[in-house]
Amino acid sequence: ASKMGNETAKAELGRATWRFLHTMTLRFPDHPTPEQRTTLSTFFHSFALLYPCGECANHFQELLKELPPQTSSRMAASLWLCSAHNRVNKRLGKAEFPCDKLDETYDCGCGPDPSASTNDKAATP
Ligand code: FAD
Repeated sequence: ASKMGNETAKAELGRATWRFLHTMTLRFPDHPTPEQRTTLSTFFHSFALLYPCGECANHFQELLKELPPQTSSRMAASLWLCSAHNRVNKRLGKAEFPCDKLDETYDCGCGPDPSASTNDKAATP
């Protein structure tokens, strides 16, 4: 790799990663257990340390300090990630994404989540 890096590869990695992250938060339970909430928060803090683009990782670590991951529900986590991605978009001069379009943009192709309905039953009286 050159000193300047490879912008095409960096953008490709970014698109694939954002797709994974948004799809993941949109599959997070509506009523997460305390353990699931901790797992999601820990995931993002580890992710920020491990993301392969060092410049991106450093910025994302700073972003997490300002905007800590929201883990109280699927919608809270999904909207938090949408805002975080919009912060990155702004810094890179990209357009703001409308966060009310998340559900129609991301389809994991995995059908209904059996563990989600179990959690809903457990959390609903
Ligand atoms: P992307 O930003 O990759 O988005 C892909 C698609 O997601 C868009 O086409 C749109 O359909 C949708 N989308 C856009 N915004 C949102 C949103 N807010 N919520 C939900 N969906 C949305 N690149 C750098 O050059 N410097 C950096 O410092 C940098 N930091 C990064 C940090 C992280 C954590 C990640 C994952 C990537 C980072 N990148 C960085 C890469 C950069 O964010 C883009 O992925 C890359 O530039 C490709 O941009 P894109 O225009 O194809 O759209």
